[in-house]
Amino acid sequence: MFILFIKSMQFNFDNSYLSLPTELYSDTKPVPVKKPQLVAFNKELAIELGIDTYYVQPEELAELFVGNKLPEGSANIAQAYSGHQFGHFARLGDGRAVILGEQITPLGVRFDLQFKGSGVTPYSRRGDGRATLSAMLREYIISEVMHELGIPTSRSLAVVATGETVYREQVQMGAVLTRVAASHVRVGTFEHVARFCSPTTLHTFTNYVINRHYPELFETENPALSFLKKVMEKQIDLIVHWMRVGFIHGVMNTDNMTISGETIDYGPCAFMNAYRPETVFSSIDMDGRYAFGNQPQMAFWNLNRLAESLVPLIDTDTNIAVEKVEGVLNTFQPTFEQKYFDMLGCKIGIYKPETNDKLLINNLLNWMYLNNADFTNTFVRLMYPELILDKLYTQDLFVDWEQDWKYRLNEISQTKPSHLELMQQTNPVYIPRNHLVEQVLSDVTKTGQLKSFKTLIHQLSTPYSTSDFDINWMQPPVQTDEQVYKTYCGT
Ligand code: AMP
Ligand code: MG
Repeated sequence: MFILFIKSMQFNFDNSYLSLPTELYSDTKPVPVKKPQLVAFNKELAIELGIDTYYVQPEELAELFVGNKLPEGSANIAQAYSGHQFGHFARLGDGRAVILGEQITPLGVRFDLQFKGSGVTPYSRRGDGRATLSAMLREYIISEVMHELGIPTSRSLAVVATGETVYREQVQMGAVLTRVAASHVRVGTFEHVARFCSPTTLHTFTNYVINRHYPELFETENPALSFLKKVMEKQIDLIVHWMRVGFIHGVMNTDNMTISGETIDYGPCAFMNAYRPETVFSSIDMDGRYAFGNQPQMAFWNLNRLAESLVPLIDTDTNIAVEKVEGVLNTFQPTFEQKYFDMLGCKIGIYKPETNDKLLINNLLNWMYLNNADFTNTFVRLMYPELILDKLYTQDLFVDWEQDWKYRLNEISQTKPSHLELMQQTNPVYIPRNHLVEQVLSDVTKTGQLKSFKTLIHQLSTPYSTSDFDINWMQPPVQTDEQVYKTYCGT
């Protein structure tokens, strides 16, 4: 089958990655599919990107966003990268993804548009290059909710069913997701370049990435060192956000950690119900390496891999370079702790918590842990006591804690935002709980109906809603099998 170029829809591509040495990517076209069908399309995002789809029929969108017809100006590449997966180094690359192009929005911002599940590439190894409809819809839902939660993330523009089957644990429907990200440069891309390319390529690539994401760093004395610091700060902010809403990424391998600080590569991820730092959702994470509470340490581990890759650029004398790198990495722990603590303060309505407030916060977390209290709903209960009527919250220990907390709030003269406003901005009321998401995915794949998918997207589009609450969307799972549900990696 050959690929047609269409002119009807205007994109504004500028494919800067092609200026890099060719060992960093492979020219690769999406593999055409038999019967594409548009399942989800994010009109608001298309408008933000400056892609006018107003007069375009769903059939045409399907042909385009499955990769059968490529728009003018697109330049398809699969990117080369490596990564540490569960601690072990591997040569990877886009095995089932190709970039459609770098779209420049009307506001002048650059985004990669990438097809995920678009067929084999030179990096596919033994994989089929494909993705399941269920997994791509899951990524669509979770990434869009993450965006609504105010958390940096790749976004989802479209899901197109391929009309072809994909074999995982069983036969499933295939689909292609169009994902949008500031870039797809990962910690693993740096590991790849540092290990397999020349020092000149490492230098060229690092300059490219700094120029693309943090051009202001060229003004600093040591741009490579400042870059490490910047990526560290971005990652700290990201993990604090994740911990704020109970998000567990599930596979924080270095190839899944971006330089831009966006959440990317949604696989076996989930939102925690009961507060338990050891919570793991991925069935392949046997040792709990990427458990909820381990995420800061794992981000730090990944940043160490980035730092190692940058050493030759930081100083010609390796000992001096290592010393400088350590100077940056040593600030991870105190910076994270401060930001994490401030975030928890906001969750209980205290804008700049003081050292004494740490005890108050820890007492609440301990109580939640010992009583299997729902993470999200405990904070909802503090904001709207009449809404969460679980008898757990009548326990003496909780009532005593609440009294201490109210006493403390009275002590602090906090005006704008008020305690409640601050909590409303920090604590979501709705999160995409796994049992809800799985129910929707099962509805779509079994019946072909999109009604429940659309309802879920609509309901979760206002996670910080402050009125008209629908308790049905707030309940944690009741049955044990839902509670122990694990998200499998057969994506
Ligand atoms: P992930 O677990 O999605 O981060 O992927 C890890 C690596 O495996 C990346 O290099 C992917 O491109 C590759 N990969 C995952 N699934 C497939 C597949 N179905 N076919 C080919 N490569 C894949
Ligand atoms: Mg990945």
